[in-house]
Amino acid sequence: MKRKGILAVVSGFSGAGKGTLMKALLEAHGEQYALSISATTRKPRPGEEEGKDYFFVSPERFQEMIRENALIEYACYVGNYYGTPRDYVLRQLEAGRDVILEIEIQGALKVKKAFPDALLLFVTPPTAAELKRRLQGRGTETKEVICSRLMRAVEEAEFMEQYDYLLINDDLDTCVREMDGLIQAQHLRTGGSQEWILEMKEELGSLEKES
Ligand code: 5GP
Repeated sequence: MKRKGILAVVSGFSGAGKGTLMKALLEAHGEQYALSISATTRKPRPGEEEGKDYFFVSPERFQEMIRENALIEYACYVGNYYGTPRDYVLRQLEAGRDVILEIEIQGALKVKKAFPDALLLFVTPPTAAELKRRLQGRGTETKEVICSRLMRAVEEAEFMEQYDYLLINDDLDTCVREMDGLIQAQHLRTGGSQEWILEMKEELGSLEKES
């Protein structure tokens, strides 16, 4: 049976450790997963690379991508636009790879509407104090940005229940194992195997007639 990939959306508070988690998941199971690279109007942080971390585009180019329907979803987050390029995601799913979108909440809910089978995972540190500590520890953001990200976390907490699963990122290896397990379990849902079920029923019917 040729199986299509699962579309998994990973959100979580800024500072929840999503980036590290994604990296560890891809290192452990790189052949199975494809990580979508978003377009953004945000400026690159030190060390970030074009085409690896994001496609860094101008606001004009971003508007053009919206008009061309080149994005599956997009959202404005703390003053910048972020969006998921459509072509790459659809091609990878068709090829049977599980595609991960690491996106914020407004975008995640839009994806769920457009792709009802998408799996929504929310990653959080064990406590709010730990979240603040991790944001400060990053050392790349100004005090204002940290503050606006914490305020955003308060807003985002309202939407956690709309996700399918909550992942507490306390121990990285455990969290990677849990995430991989949830996505792979999604392949086994009967809803995703309609073709196979139909074939099985037909074959069983033929066998019954023969006997
Ligand atoms: P950062 O600026 O820290 O890289 O990302 C800020 C937020 O934007 C994060 O919550 C990240 O998950 C989200 N984000 C990144 N790419 C996309 C995207 O394509 N669409 C949406 N809706 N959010 C995104």
